[in-house]
Amino acid sequence: MTAEMLSIPGLAKPASRIALGTWAIGGAMWGGPDDENAARTIDKALDLGINVIDTAPVYGFGHSEDVIGRALEGKRDRVILATKVGLNWQDGKVFRDSRPERIKQEVEDSLRRLRTDHIDLYQVHWPDPKTPIEETARALEQLVTDGKVRALGVSNFSPAQMDEFRKVAPLAAVQPPYNLFEREIEKDVLPYAIQNKLVVLAYGPLCRGLLSGRMTADRKFEGDDLRKTDPKFKEPRFDQYLKAVADLKAIADKHGKSMLALAIRWVLDRGPTIALWGARKPEQISGVDDALDWKLNEADMKEIDAILTRDITDPVGPEFMAPPARA
Ligand code: NAP
Repeated sequence: MTAEMLSIPGLAKPASRIALGTWAIGGAMWGGPDDENAARTIDKALDLGINVIDTAPVYGFGHSEDVIGRALEGKRDRVILATKVGLNWQDGKVFRDSRPERIKQEVEDSLRRLRTDHIDLYQVHWPDPKTPIEETARALEQLVTDGKVRALGVSNFSPAQMDEFRKVAPLAAVQPPYNLFEREIEKDVLPYAIQNKLVVLAYGPLCRGLLSGRMTADRKFEGDDLRKTDPKFKEPRFDQYLKAVADLKAIADKHGKSMLALAIRWVLDRGPTIALWGARKPEQISGVDDALDWKLNEADMKEIDAILTRDITDPVGPEFMAPPARA
């Protein structure tokens, strides 16, 4: 348990600064599901004081939400349940779809799978260039009025897109990619969030396992694992990122912490953030306490920046994950 909590506007319950990310629990794009371990991971997260669970309909095409709904039976009130809206799929192909009629359908599907009567934080997963943002925002605001949703968020939105949204409905949170290797939001989204008092749910804080401290050059990815197409996991870049992790580890050692704790701590020390730690086995999150209740100082931050600049000569972002627009 920890004193580190954060308030998400519109929600009564304070949020833990580490959330459980459940994309991999859905199975698809992560080499397949393992429901027994998934349920144990959710239980373990609650035991460790994590009270935010982030999911999405598209994670395993409903499977992640379904597993969470089952695992939380009798425990729903203990958590802040964050899910998403605005991606659609056909024959396993995902595309952006934030039309009001899609939203009306999706919220009912999510409530049913999650076995709840309300969603605490409802986030637009990706901006849909074919639907005016104000139409999406109006449909979501109606869900708040109807009591189906408590607070609204957006994911992968630019400040200009958030401005459009906020003309219609208030935003409580934004969910961008953010980790030691993916820092694009520092230019615009992070300052915007600070200025407008939005909580930042930082996704991929371990850069899909690269920052776990356990990734090795010979790691094999199974089945449909998205890391087979992630450009960071291809040589010669993979080597550069692994070298950076080895050098960053020295800073973690100085604090008597694991590499993984350093990666999470760094995200937590950069602003009003919640780190969405992706895990699918209980032992993966057993180190939560190691990441909480300490701080990186200014000298650490400078040293980290120097390592990243020196080691990663050919950086690449998470753009490969962006789903296409509607046909
Ligand atoms: P992540 O948190 O950066 O990395 C998760 C992966 O790291 C795990 O699947 C696991 O890989 C590895 N890992 C975790 N704990 C570990 C440990 N103790 N030791 C060794 N390896 C460990 O990546 P993410 O899952 O992509 O992102 C986190 C969450 O953010 C997602 O689950 C989702 O909720 C959210 N997200 C949102 C978006 C969006 O567009 N809004 C996009 C991506 C993610 P293995 O199990 O393979 O070892």
